[in-house]
Amino acid sequence: MELRSAEALLLDVVDLHDYDRIVTFLTREWGKKRGVAKGARRKHSRFGGQLQPLGKARVDWMEKDNRDLVRISSVELQRSARHLQQDLEGLLLSAYLADHIQEFVQENEASDLFFRLLDSTVQALAGGVDRHLATRYFEAWVLRLAGIFPAPESCPQCGLVLEVSGVVLLASGESLVCRSCARTEPRARNVSPQAVEFLRRIDGVKLVDLDDVRPAISTLNEVEQICTKVRRSFLQKELRSYQVIRETISGLPGNPALPTEDF
Ligand SMILES: [Zn+2]
Repeated sequence: MELRSAEALLLDVVDLHDYDRIVTFLTREWGKKRGVAKGARRKHSRFGGQLQPLGKARVDWMEKDNRDLVRISSVELQRSARHLQQDLEGLLLSAYLADHIQEFVQENEASDLFFRLLDSTVQALAGGVDRHLATRYFEAWVLRLAGIFPAPESCPQCGLVLEVSGVVLLASGESLVCRSCARTEPRARNVSPQAVEFLRRIDGVKLVDLDDVRPAISTLNEVEQICTKVRRSFLQKELRSYQVIRETISGLPGNPALPTEDF
């Protein structure tokens, strides 16, 4: 048995039996972990109020070889994410961010960059950064860190430098290529120079700084469509939380229709 302790971002909390909860959390050192918080559903539990999705916490746990689930002994919340738990859109957004980490981060694998990305995104959202911008930044960066969606600088097929106005998304959603490589692909779509610039600009720019020169909503919508397509092509499925967002948000009064699926 091994005792471990780390700063963590809580991803998901679900009930287990009558009294316990299963907590999934992200650490820098050991990637994603899942553990049982015994008695967390009881009144006066020592975990009371600490198990907040996307909260940042010091987590202590015990591990046994060959066991998937660790046993969590304590969770001490350091930063709450209550600002995301107060409205429906915030709740859906939390689930969406956490879902990415669940899909793209492995268990027991150092994940410092993913940790920093999620940490800084939650922090920026708490500071009032635009949610649409923060989500696009986050999803593009997750794909980049996963190694499947590099900045559109050169064409992955022919190696030529990509002109900002000559970038095309393959219908398969696999990558952004140059016009000439896409000419035999009738269903490939042109990408706007603004979207190309956004995908380049997120390199080395903090989210909070990007908010000062926020792109147009149409550009953010386009980035969303592109990232969704690339992600779906890689995972061969849609993230469940994204489906829920589409079904929920577009049905709310005052919300514009979401981008169409068939981009
Ligand atoms: Zn090319």
